[in-house]
Amino acid sequence: MTKAKICFIGAGNMPRAIIGGLVASGYDPHLIHATNPSAPKLDAMRADFGIHTSHDNLAAARDADVVVLSVKPQLMEAVCRELSPAIDKQLLITIAAGIPERRYHDYFGKQVKLIRTMPNTPMLLGLGMTGLYAPAKIGEADRALAGMLMQSCGDILWVEKEEDINKVIALAGSSPAYFFLFVEAMVEAGMALNMTEEAARHLAQQAAVGAAAMMKANPKQSLAQLREAVTSKGGTTAQAIATFEQGGLRPLVKQAMGNCIKRAEEMA
Ligand code: NAP
Repeated sequence: MTKAKICFIGAGNMPRAIIGGLVASGYDPHLIHATNPSAPKLDAMRADFGIHTSHDNLAAARDADVVVLSVKPQLMEAVCRELSPAIDKQLLITIAAGIPERRYHDYFGKQVKLIRTMPNTPMLLGLGMTGLYAPAKIGEADRALAGMLMQSCGDILWVEKEEDINKVIALAGSSPAYFFLFVEAMVEAGMALNMTEEAARHLAQQAAVGAAAMMKANPKQSLAQLREAVTSKGGTTAQAIATFEQGGLRPLVKQAMGNCIKRAEEMA
């Protein structure tokens, strides 16, 4: 395992998930440093993972081999400008949505080595899906390091073109919310049939977990085959599926994802 010193600028939910994954996978916590303006998140990370923490972004970045930029997008420019004097040969990894790679060179006022990533919240449970994009000049060792970091709390997928990161947002970054919405709608329908919210959620949520596990367990079966296996001709499931199809579920999903991508492009 690499001995790279990794520093996280911003100690919110995402870094917490990545650091938790790294430490659980055997990464030496003494090689990890997190910074944050307020103390409670740092105190918790130090207690939970045994990592270094501080309020000093510059000193932490200066001492690191890899700097993970994990502040909100609206704070990114100010944080990069602050960090600039400390950045020389370090690999920078950003988890911020929307900001294109070229803009970071402006923020730092010089050429930097940067990999863009787009994680999602199931990372908090080690079930994340992260898309990564590296410009051509980034070498194999740096790509491997970024991949190792994100793989510590889920699956990864490298994309060839930076614009494809916006497709990752539509398919994985934002999509946990689509599934929550679908289950929410099922629970509301169950409640309209006089079920308790608790019972309806239990049933719908466990069906979602089971369906996700079946997709993962059967990668050679197409999704249509999995669906057809629970859809007897003329049966109950067939009635529900036909209703979704007639109601335009597929074009609606396409439109929703298209609008998600459009929004990501506007933010760039
Ligand atoms: P978050 O929980 O709000 O964390 C941001 C952290 O940055 C906070 O702990 C904040 O500290 C800290 N911070 C503020 N100013 C700072 C500064 N000058 N120097 C160092 N740290 C500073 O946000 P998050 O959900 O982890 O998101 C972080 C990044 O992940 C964002 O860029 C977001 O686009 C990206 N992302 C998030 C998701 C998601 O689903 N959450 C998915 C993909 C990507 P205080 O609390 O003390 O202000």
